[in-house]
Amino acid sequence: MEMWLKEMQIDGAAMTYKVKETLVRKKTQYQDLAIVDTDVFGRMLVLDGIVQTTIKDEFVYHEMISHIPLFTHPNPKKVLVVGGGDGGAIREILKHPSVEKAVLCEIDGDVIDECKKYLPEISCALDDPRCEIFVGDGIQYVKEHKNEFDVIIVDSTDPFSIAEGLFGGNFYKDIYNALTEDGIFIAQTETPFYLPDTVKKVHNDAKAIFPITKLFMAAIPTYPGGYWSFTIGSKKYDPTEVDTTKIPEIDTKYYTREIHKACFVLPRYIQELVK
Ligand code: SAM
Repeated sequence: MEMWLKEMQIDGAAMTYKVKETLVRKKTQYQDLAIVDTDVFGRMLVLDGIVQTTIKDEFVYHEMISHIPLFTHPNPKKVLVVGGGDGGAIREILKHPSVEKAVLCEIDGDVIDECKKYLPEISCALDDPRCEIFVGDGIQYVKEHKNEFDVIIVDSTDPFSIAEGLFGGNFYKDIYNALTEDGIFIAQTETPFYLPDTVKKVHNDAKAIFPITKLFMAAIPTYPGGYWSFTIGSKKYDPTEVDTTKIPEIDTKYYTREIHKACFVLPRYIQELVK
């Protein structure tokens, strides 16, 4: 019998994937975790019924959430990832030779363990000596660190439950304080098509704290709406003013010098949300 995974992307609209095999399904301390193998997107990590990352399209998200801030900062040495237990952001961060340390703060140790086991293509850099793994709440971790990170990447689940506090002004204030004086923060900030109010609020919250706030977009087939937003808050460097001719060649499938500029060009309905 055929097996299909139905993901409710928004109340009233769902996406379905034909499943070849369920590799793991368990209740962790924090969420329902599954890794399944699908016909079209290959293996995927699903948390509380929501697709987090897939072998086929993960490169778009992980490259964009990492290389846009890391090529905006002239010399990123210490980077923090909040969430991101699959390891995809860490893999991309460690492609930057200036990075001496990349800390992963993931609340759910089971996500890290199962991704290491079943998604090696994504989690492959988690054993790199420059990567330090901390299992715990990112909200608390950020509060306890001051003036330490050149780049902070918030690679979280959607703004509910354990991740709710990762979206909004109080957390962004703590992020500001955990960054060095010219630090940069980036967060995945959902779909402007389905969640315009969330995108608008997050942008306004970041704008109230960071002197430079920019939103950019990337096309990610499995994410709701297919067109995903990321928000950058920066103390000094403007990601839209990077001299892209100086960006070195890097092994990527989505990110290019041209994409670094083009991703900040917004359709009018998204411009309206952030003006
Ligand atoms: N790329 C994904 C997306 O946009 O759907 C995010 C994937 S990543 C696996 C998200 C991770 O954030 C999850 O593993 C989850 O456990 C973690 N997370 C959620 N809330 C957290 C918190 N408060 N502190 C640290 N990690 C958290």
